[in-house]
Amino acid sequence: MNEENIDKEEAEKEFLANPKIVENYSFLQGIGVFEFVNSLEREIRNYKTLLTRGLDIFNRTSIDEIMDATVWQISDHFLPSFITFLWKPIQTRDDITIKSYKNYKPVEVNINVDSIKPFEAFFQQFPRPINFDLLAFELKNDEAIEPFTSIEPEIVIPILGPFGLYGIIVVGRKILEGEYAQEELLFLQRLMSFVSQAIKNHLHYEHSLRDVKTGLYNHGFFMTRLNEEVSRTRRTGCASSMIVMDVDKFKNFNDHYGHLAGDKVLENLALVIKQSVRTDDIPSRFGGEEFTVLLPHTDKDTVWTVAERLRCSVAEMQVPWEIALPQVTISLGIFTFDQDSEVESADIIRRADEALYLSKEQGRNRSTMWSPDLMSTMQKE
Ligand code: GH3
Ligand code: MG
Ligand code: MG
Repeated sequence: MNEENIDKEEAEKEFLANPKIVENYSFLQGIGVFEFVNSLEREIRNYKTLLTRGLDIFNRTSIDEIMDATVWQISDHFLPSFITFLWKPIQTRDDITIKSYKNYKPVEVNINVDSIKPFEAFFQQFPRPINFDLLAFELKNDEAIEPFTSIEPEIVIPILGPFGLYGIIVVGRKILEGEYAQEELLFLQRLMSFVSQAIKNHLHYEHSLRDVKTGLYNHGFFMTRLNEEVSRTRRTGCASSMIVMDVDKFKNFNDHYGHLAGDKVLENLALVIKQSVRTDDIPSRFGGEEFTVLLPHTDKDTVWTVAERLRCSVAEMQVPWEIALPQVTISLGIFTFDQDSEVESADIIRRADEALYLSKEQGRNRSTMWSPDLMSTMQKE
């Protein structure tokens, strides 16, 4: 028994031993005072449990961990047939990520949903968990509801914030024990308010690292990671690389086809970059039509292959637009550093830039690897 319980037991003994209580015991019992006190105690216990669980969820350091913890917490009370999280990783964009759990474990679930936009206005008006059938009835949008019906949801919980609807959490029917009891629904509703806050905090944090237009990392995050990589390379000796790329003759492109078409090109270019790099790499929008990729643990040969693959993919990229758009190309500069390079972040960027400059000078749509004699090539010209 812990200290808190011992104190509580002492206080209870003292209270019951009070002569006034002893004198009026039957009366107090008759009007239900003790029962009422018991129910309040139960309620306090429930709140304490909720607070502990809520804090546990708040202390998780990634959205995946928050989701794992939520599933465990719920499954402690009852086992839903599934729990599915649908959320927008980037608040200014519509695309969503879906993660489903069955029997505590992540599983693939076939839900053909690519946006949660149809639910946004409804949940902004009624910002609380709702029974799925009631939602279907109130929403009056069969197209939005249809993809969910095959998985037979029971409850839908919104995640809302200053950017609107961030996501929804869909909980399936209870396995084995029939309908959800009122108390269980209340527990779910209370726990989920912690979960949605925790997810929202992480989405805001993620958002602060991203470039709004392309969804790639922003300049600030790239610099933070580059500084870390410089220190790590000094410690471990393992080579890392940086690629800088710049769209060729993009001013002409904008002048001919307009800035909106230009923006669309940049968005598609970002997608190509994202698809061409590993999950450990840091693809970023450095500014304007300039992009960078930081490639930890990557030597000269590998980064050269990545750069050339990127360059060719961009040259083949099809950008859907109102009219047919011409192919765009990029020029690239590469710098690889290791323990012996004795460079700071600014030197790395400067050298990658020098290599990019040479790619431009030599006709564009090409990659250049920085080397010590590159400077003399440039100085001669
Ligand atoms: P170079 O091959 O030498 O790089 O030629 P360039 O025309 O690309 O170079 P310059 O630096 O003169 O022009 C960059 C252009 O990129 C000008 C600017 O309008 C365009 N740009 C920068 N950011 C954006 C953006 O967010 N959207 C659009 N549409 N254009 C952008
Ligand atoms: Mg430029
Ligand atoms: Mg350019």
